[in-house]
Amino acid sequence: MKYNFGAGPCILPQEVFKEAAEAVLDFNGLSILEISHRSKDFIKVFEETRNNVKKALNIPDGYTVLFLQGGASLGFLIAAMNMAGKHKKAAYINTGTWSTLAMKEAQNAGLEVVEVASSKDKDFTYIPTKFTVPEDVDYLHYTSNNTIRGTQFHFIPETTVPLVCDMSSDIFSRPIDVSKFDLIYAGAQKNLGPAGATLFIVKDSVFGRSSMPIPTYLDLKTHKDKDGLFNTPSVFSIFTANLNLRHLLSIGGPEKMKIINQEKADLLYNEIDTNPNFRGIVEKESRSLMNVVFSLTDETKKERFNQLCDEAGIIGYKGHRSVGGYRLSLYNALPLSSVKVVVDLMKSL
Ligand SMILES: *Cc1c(COP(=O)(O)O)cnc(C)c1O
Repeated sequence: MKYNFGAGPCILPQEVFKEAAEAVLDFNGLSILEISHRSKDFIKVFEETRNNVKKALNIPDGYTVLFLQGGASLGFLIAAMNMAGKHKKAAYINTGTWSTLAMKEAQNAGLEVVEVASSKDKDFTYIPTKFTVPEDVDYLHYTSNNTIRGTQFHFIPETTVPLVCDMSSDIFSRPIDVSKFDLIYAGAQKNLGPAGATLFIVKDSVFGRSSMPIPTYLDLKTHKDKDGLFNTPSVFSIFTANLNLRHLLSIGGPEKMKIINQEKADLLYNEIDTNPNFRGIVEKESRSLMNVVFSLTDETKKERFNQLCDEAGIIGYKGHRSVGGYRLSLYNALPLSSVKVVVDLMKSL
């Protein structure tokens, strides 16, 4: 038995793995891996997936759901190019590695980037709450959950300019008010499905608004005009994401998921706070429910704790190489029972 606390690709519900495996062998007489993305069978899956995204997030009319490729890493550039308006200038909140990379890609796209807030002064251990967004920017960008640093926005930044968010590592983990956003993007592999697809939720006013020439694939309008099937999408990733969305909806959607995720995170943070062997790294109000980052108070116990984790089959517990310490990711499909296993290990150290 292994317990997957990895930061991504991540655990999915066991029944999703099983159904996906069955479809690899037989999906209406063919393998899901060989069916045409233009076939009736796939179009049906594709439409259901897009509808399930809308259902799960209560997406209002006036938004389009797309599944592209290139991960959130290409999403940084796609967001910047498509959101660029008359100012060719964008505001970014910098909360760690992924935001920093997003800013770099906006610069690569030729935009002037204004860093309106940053938590770099304290090694990205908190979420800045005070910032002023200039009026002459085309959009404000932030990263809702900082997968590497273990911080998370528990509020939506107030702004009068269009709002863009990289939600790669907490989408579908809690309800969100999509109407506040012009563009949301997320790599599939952290709460949605296997790696391969990148989800874009696009307000319809974004299509064609850009002030710069955009290569065909990177232009969101290309995909809107072809109803999401401009080229061959990541069929298996989308298919499996849909199995996961069906599962999520069947248990009560992100509303219910948030309660479950809170319970898991509370259990672990409580152990970190009360066990003298451990300490949290992140400021309490900024703690992520998805990625829990902490360290030992006495580094000489490292070998012993790592050994306990290894022997128990805990996978993916080490902190990101840029941070050190420990990081346990509690994505949607990770059961409470797995958190209990690790908490018992912490108690036994
Ligand atoms: C993992 C991650 C990325 C990078 O995603 P890829 O799909 O691997 O490009 C970007 N942003 C956040 C918040 C992430 O967690």
